[in-house]
Amino acid sequence: KKYVYFFSEGNKEMKSLLGGKGANLAEMNKIGLPVPPGFTITTKACNRYYECDREIDKEIKEQIFNNLKILERETGKVFGDSENPLLVSVRSGAVISMPGMMDTVLNLGLNDITVKGLSKKTNNERFAYDSYRRFIQMFGDVVLGIPKYKFDSVLEKVKMEKRVENDTELTIDDLREMIKKYKDLIKKEARIDFPDNPEEQLMMAVKAVFDSWNNSRAIVYRKINDIPHHLGTAVNVQSMVFGNMGENSGTGVAFTRHPSTGKKEIFGEFLLNAQGEDVVAGIRTPKPISELKNIMPKVYDEFVKITEILENHYKDMQDIEFTIEEGKLYILQTRNGKRTAKAAVNIAVDMANEGLIDKKTAVMRIDPQQIGQLLYPTFKSEELKKAKKIAEGLPASPGAATGKIYFNAEDAVKAADSGEKVILVRVETSPEDIEGMVKAEAILTARGGMTSHAAVVARGMGKCCVAGCGEIRIEEHNKLFRAGDKVYREGDFISIDGNTGKVYEGIIETKDADLIGNFGVLMEWADEFRRLRVRTNADTPRDSEIAVKFGAEGIGLCRTEHMFFKENRILAVREMIISKTVEERKKALDKLLPFQKEDFIGIFRAMGCRPVTIRLLDPPLHEFLPNKDEDIKILAKEIGVEFNALKDKIEELKEFNPMLGHRGCRLGITYPEIYEMQVKAIILAAIEVKEKFGIEIKPEIMIPLVGIEREIEIIKQLINQTAENIMSEKGMKIAYKVGTMIEVPRAALIADKIAKHAEFFSFGTNDLTQMTFGFSRDDSGKFINEYREKEIFEKDPFARLDQVGVGKLVEMAINLGRQTRKDIKLGICGEHGGEPQSIDFFHRIGLDYVSCSPYRVPIARLAAAQAAI
Ligand code: PEP
Ligand code: MG
Repeated sequence: KKYVYFFSEGNKEMKSLLGGKGANLAEMNKIGLPVPPGFTITTKACNRYYECDREIDKEIKEQIFNNLKILERETGKVFGDSENPLLVSVRSGAVISMPGMMDTVLNLGLNDITVKGLSKKTNNERFAYDSYRRFIQMFGDVVLGIPKYKFDSVLEKVKMEKRVENDTELTIDDLREMIKKYKDLIKKEARIDFPDNPEEQLMMAVKAVFDSWNNSRAIVYRKINDIPHHLGTAVNVQSMVFGNMGENSGTGVAFTRHPSTGKKEIFGEFLLNAQGEDVVAGIRTPKPISELKNIMPKVYDEFVKITEILENHYKDMQDIEFTIEEGKLYILQTRNGKRTAKAAVNIAVDMANEGLIDKKTAVMRIDPQQIGQLLYPTFKSEELKKAKKIAEGLPASPGAATGKIYFNAEDAVKAADSGEKVILVRVETSPEDIEGMVKAEAILTARGGMTSHAAVVARGMGKCCVAGCGEIRIEEHNKLFRAGDKVYREGDFISIDGNTGKVYEGIIETKDADLIGNFGVLMEWADEFRRLRVRTNADTPRDSEIAVKFGAEGIGLCRTEHMFFKENRILAVREMIISKTVEERKKALDKLLPFQKEDFIGIFRAMGCRPVTIRLLDPPLHEFLPNKDEDIKILAKEIGVEFNALKDKIEELKEFNPMLGHRGCRLGITYPEIYEMQVKAIILAAIEVKEKFGIEIKPEIMIPLVGIEREIEIIKQLINQTAENIMSEKGMKIAYKVGTMIEVPRAALIADKIAKHAEFFSFGTNDLTQMTFGFSRDDSGKFINEYREKEIFEKDPFARLDQVGVGKLVEMAINLGRQTRKDIKLGICGEHGGEPQSIDFFHRIGLDYVSCSPYRVPIARLAAAQAAI
């Protein structure tokens, strides 16, 4: 079996075997770009490693050393040689790129003997010893697991003793001294001698890369990004080229288009006399790529040409790593670049307009979840004018956020978990900060460039980030930063703008986004391809307006209970609930009628002639009553009843299992007056809107929680009767429809019978998931995470539809429903209506529409288009 491929044996289609990096190195080699030779150990080898209890088996070892021989031949250098040593880098390369999550070792092959050979061969003793020092440090960190800061503090100490600022100022003797100190550190920490044998170094490094697939930060990253754990990582072994050979050498990272805005220009950074890790780690602040033009014009021109070749070849924005060794350019990596949602949309639309890709490809290029970012708020401009700017850094990832500052990930997580909005402030971030970054609203760093860890990770998460803000002086241990002469401490509010890089004092109000420019264009293209219609779940005129702005084609679910909670009517609701007689109840309901009618008028007007589905009251009634004695006392006084009598009534209404209790249509059966009032309000509102504004409203009245045919039969009759009465009284006809939610499994099972009475079905997949699994919606949070950790679930079934079980019920109900009523309208209004993978399923099983919260409408439009392409 073949476990190792020389670069010349691969190509870009072999990603799942060679990993992203390996496949692209092979491809670049194939199209003639300057790639240092090397080979890739496959993901299958990684899987095999885990199958063999973390041992690299003989066959793989043999293949590695065979390929090493080929590499020696190609480079004319010899691994471990005292005259002309071959040095290699060992890098991970997963199938789906996981930036900064996995480990890399550079300069492998150095020891006390080969370092002399390197020195003689390159005629550059300083460089040789600097490389050796770096190698020991990386090897110690990545392979032996000794924390990096321990090496850093050795370096800092030597720098202090020698009174130098930069490591480039250290002399050869200083470096020799450091190498000794590093080796002592390894001996002390890892209790082994630093391995001199290059072959042993190589095998240990390969093993470490395999192991890094399962380090905790890689696992967290995969979880956040839904990357399967079984894929494994490939390992790339590549002959070294050196960016640290002096001032005509260097290394950098560049994007073929701007990763934040999408603008068509090369965007990147480089450092002279440095190795790759120096740029990514954000330790030295790099120079913008445009400056390379002045320093090495020929190299720059060649680089520009290569970026064009690569973008045309891959037909996507590329993120390219390069090294210049004594004036010669090498490409070390290319991959489709991570980008903000804004950049993704601009690049896709621009590339389609340039003819590089077609419209369908453009639509497929955008991750629907990611465009949520574009709907993120920005600061209100009036508020911004008044705000006090305290510093400015790099606009590393867009968005606007206000929050309390915390100076380490642990504190940030704690504060966020207790409900605070948090801004994580760090000198620079490292993969250890990942959880804090996930929980924070935004990230602010003092050091590092646009490609630093903080910037790359924040962009990937769609999180606002300002990086490299050198104007603030952070004292992490004291939990404060200084800006100008002011001190900001843990818990103080600041606001940061990821579009401008500006940092402000205090809280600034934000405003919502619009679908304009390329985003609007892309959404129109999406609409050309999708079959599913997209509606929204909204129960206020404001939400309805936002949803329409985002392209909602109607309301799929208007929950009426929220209207009952408003201040001026909750009292009447409570009176209604505790009434002793039907007459009393009707009196209270009469007070509610005008409010409810106004609610519907507002929503109808906001939606114009788009369809609106209104659901009759659903939650158990005790949800509307107070719990605490002091609140019960106040209410008793307000409605003039005895405290004890009221308390007894509330006790009586309490349920052990309210989600399975007296709710939904069961309320309508036992208290028909409530539904009667709601139907009156709907029909009256429709009549009024038609009369006053000439808008023809066709309300869809929806009955919740039906599970028995008689339930819908009885309530439908009540609805028709009530509507008929009003319409004949007013002398006007309203073309309303009556339908039901399918959210009780029994309803799905007898959907053919239910469809006799329902003109439409709307799947309530929240309740349907709850009742199919028998998991309480409100309590399952306590164990679902553990279920995910134990891989019982890949994803919370309340977030992504369980297609196998719950989906089967939906499919069955569709078929049964259509058997009875060919033209029955079918939609879904549970939370899954805004989740892309679930939307793909709903498209395939033939629903007519999905309905989701207003901010998810554009996501659903795009996901529906992708499902159809
Ligand atoms: C549902 O159950 O899926 C639904 C949309 O209704 P609610 O969430 O209000 O119970
Ligand atoms: Mg429900």
